[in-house]
Amino acid sequence: MHPQAMLLTESSPTPSAAAPGSLQGILQQVFGYGQFRGLQGDIVQHVSSGGDALVLMPTGGGKSLCYQVPAIARHRAGQGVTLVVSPLIALMHDQVGALEEAGVHAAFLNSTLDGDDTRRVERELLSGRLVLLYAAPERILTPRFLGMLDSLHERGLFSLLAIDEAHCVSQWGHDFREEYLALSSLHERYASVPRLALTATADAHTRADIIERLKLQDARQFVASFDRPNIRYTIVEKDNARQQLLRFLRDEHDGDAGIVYCQSRRKVEETAEWLVQQGIHALPYHAGLDADLRRRHQDRFLREDGLVMVATIAFGMGIDKPDVRFVAHLDLPKNIEGYYQETGRAGRDGEAADAWMAYGLADVVNQRRMIDEGEAEEDFKRLQRAKLDALLALAEAHDCRRVRLLGYFGEAYHQPVHCGNCDNCLQPPETWDATEAARMALSCIYRFQQHSGLSFGAGHLIDVLRGKSTDKTRQHGHESLSTFGVGGTISEAQWRGVLRQLIALGYLRSEGEYNTLVLTPTSRAVLRGDVPLLLRVPSLPVAKASRSGRTVRDGRSASAAASREAAAEPLDDDAQDRLARLKAWRAELAREHNLPAYVVFHDATLKQMARQCPATLDELAGISGVGAKKLEAYGRELLRVLAS
Ligand code: ADP
Ligand code: ZN
Repeated sequence: MHPQAMLLTESSPTPSAAAPGSLQGILQQVFGYGQFRGLQGDIVQHVSSGGDALVLMPTGGGKSLCYQVPAIARHRAGQGVTLVVSPLIALMHDQVGALEEAGVHAAFLNSTLDGDDTRRVERELLSGRLVLLYAAPERILTPRFLGMLDSLHERGLFSLLAIDEAHCVSQWGHDFREEYLALSSLHERYASVPRLALTATADAHTRADIIERLKLQDARQFVASFDRPNIRYTIVEKDNARQQLLRFLRDEHDGDAGIVYCQSRRKVEETAEWLVQQGIHALPYHAGLDADLRRRHQDRFLREDGLVMVATIAFGMGIDKPDVRFVAHLDLPKNIEGYYQETGRAGRDGEAADAWMAYGLADVVNQRRMIDEGEAEEDFKRLQRAKLDALLALAEAHDCRRVRLLGYFGEAYHQPVHCGNCDNCLQPPETWDATEAARMALSCIYRFQQHSGLSFGAGHLIDVLRGKSTDKTRQHGHESLSTFGVGGTISEAQWRGVLRQLIALGYLRSEGEYNTLVLTPTSRAVLRGDVPLLLRVPSLPVAKASRSGRTVRDGRSASAAASREAAAEPLDDDAQDRLARLKAWRAELAREHNLPAYVVFHDATLKQMARQCPATLDELAGISGVGAKKLEAYGRELLRVLAS
């Protein structure tokens, strides 16, 4: 059989009044959701009926339901336990918590359990009562565990094997690669058990590797769009980045949870400290912090409302907090893959979220230098440079960011040219022809060299080009150069843009301790005027966009987009009060159950309650995210909180 790749275009048709036992019924009754998202419906159907599948979906796409719904359906049909392989321990705990809240019997086995708890879980497993068991890969391959699986299998109670984070099998140097590779032996041992591999890593190489290593040649492939329509991409030129960040936090994300990525540990600490001084609720996170402190900070980020985590990229793997409202980058990531993975942590709940980045000349210089001075082989460096170039092109782009991002991952955007939800679409930047300016800059550098054999940094170069007299211009006799003052009509910010672009494109290189600028072998083409350069006019801070006027286009499902748009309508004062009471109630309950608040109810669910203010249990049941178990457990209390 040939693997079949399905490309997502619209949500699958689902009957509106489903029988309680049907897959749609499980979605409604257990999870309280009205509709499958995108490919979920097809996947769930295929897997429930025993087919193998490879699922590629972006972060936040809704992978968990792809195995949870089949697990429940198959368990109800007497087929026993679904085993979920996952390397992420914190995640297991919260997933199991969420399932138990929804009335699904689930458990995990990992190194955090003591002997008694382990034996209790093993008993539940062997009895076949468990619907889902989450386990770390190294655990599964122990003789003891395999013995239990054998026993289940013999009794026809090993229902389904779900392999989450399946890219672990492919990535060289990945912590869990060895264990993941060994998972293929499970297939040899239990050939009749259907398998489902899931990942958010999109590239073709990884996909092919997963198929080969896990022997999924006959599995059906489900490839979802990697678009995240609810994330708004904004990239601004640095101009006092801290203040820009603070403005962004205060104007757009007051009281929201989010992540601020910085490149170095020191910058993480300094930025977090500074934000706290500015009255922002921020915590630092990087690999240099004590493990205990790190865990505490991560825990607080997951459990408390509205914390800002300032972090290196050491933070984020396995964070499935759904209500991260923004991801901000104060430094340039290494490549688009990194950028997309990091920004993908925003808005998993499908509500409006921001990916915001400030970048400048120094970022370009630093990233280039890190590659140049790295230990890697020349071939690898070339690849790293090409990847950095693609990211720089994204940053300098004056057209739709989303079209570029998706294009990078080999996906054509369904509505070409405009997504309507990135900075460039919302406020098309002006451009200017910088071809002549680029020639001026390079010839000025050439003149420096001729004049004294010395090279200089960007600041001095710009002073000379703009004809600004300083101690340095006088001291070096640069005021007599023919290029002194030739670019006086071009602003300093524009000049920085020109230099950044020239460095990004390799027409200029920055060298040494003082980042002095030198020509490269390709500079000549620019000097000749052969390289047309169209640049964005550096923009002033974008005026605060009105959230309510924000349209989210979603290629997956028009109704989902509509409901998200409705969800973006601001709440009136009464509804705000209700929301505050609901959140306080949720925080209390989450503390009691030792779970993150979003496991109890998502923000989106509470908001809908606050807006619609249901007065009866029936009305409450109609809210997305309220399943039967939660309705029974919390319904009356919620009505009381709403009415109070
Ligand atoms: P992934 O693992 O792909 O990153 P998750 O499985 O964590 O994504 O799902 C992301 C969020 O979307 C979760 O909070 C989940 O509850 C929600 N979600 C998933 N499917 C649906 C659906 N059909 N309707 C409403 N919400 C959904
Ligand atoms: Zn756009």
